[in-house]
Amino acid sequence: MTLMSAPILGYPDMTKQFILDTDASGFGIGAVLSQIHEGKEVVVAYYSKSLSKAQRQYCVTRRELLADQKEIDNSDETFETVDFLRMAKVQDSQEASCSNKSDSAMWYEHKTNEEMFEAQKSDNVLFNLFRLKSDNNNRPEWADVALHDVKLKKYWSQWDRIVLINNVLYRKWINTTTEESNLQFIVPEIWKENIMKMLHDDIQVGHFGIHKTVARAQNRFYWVNHKDEITKWVQNCIVCNSRKQPPRKAKSKMKQYNVGAQWKELPWI
Ligand SMILES: [Zn+2]
Repeated sequence: MTLMSAPILGYPDMTKQFILDTDASGFGIGAVLSQIHEGKEVVVAYYSKSLSKAQRQYCVTRRELLADQKEIDNSDETFETVDFLRMAKVQDSQEASCSNKSDSAMWYEHKTNEEMFEAQKSDNVLFNLFRLKSDNNNRPEWADVALHDVKLKKYWSQWDRIVLINNVLYRKWINTTTEESNLQFIVPEIWKENIMKMLHDDIQVGHFGIHKTVARAQNRFYWVNHKDEITKWVQNCIVCNSRKQPPRKAKSKMKQYNVGAQWKELPWI
């Protein structure tokens, strides 16, 4: 109550600039509206609200922007025309992490060509594939791969679709719905887990199902057996499993029981 009474809470002066400070946690948003009165910052109004389930999925910046918007909506309509000196603490790094780009697009921007090359080189199968691709224009003979890992043979069978760009292996893929042609990065063993996590567990949307996760993979990534591995990954996700309802208890069918006489106790009571 002390916070709501003078001298803590001041009267708004509509001729002056307003300062709007907002903050957001995982569950709620809060805002403080203040002004400079006689050289001192004085609070004019407070606002707080818990977030809906969908809003909790927003990233920090969007939650703080929501707090800005709610505070303005909640305030007198004349606030629409006044100046705001300070708004949500939007920092450059946060803004970057919350842009409309997909996680996989951002993943690409953070990896250098050198890092992708080194990661593929650390994978035995991809290293052998790299050597075959850089030494041969045409597909090598079966005898050259017959003794290799079965995964390498699967890449070999797609020879014309595998391309080497700046020493990094990609697979050409045409989206049959949009007819767009994409280059899928061939994922080395050491990055698989991180990439599957990123594809399945989206920071803004939540946990995708098996089909959606596989579809998200196809736009940018490829590796032999990726569908099976993604399926297992999603099926074993602890978060998804903890959300599942326990199976319903089976009930036996209702049936008639014959009793000997009126009011005779039933055998199981
Ligand atoms: Zn999950």
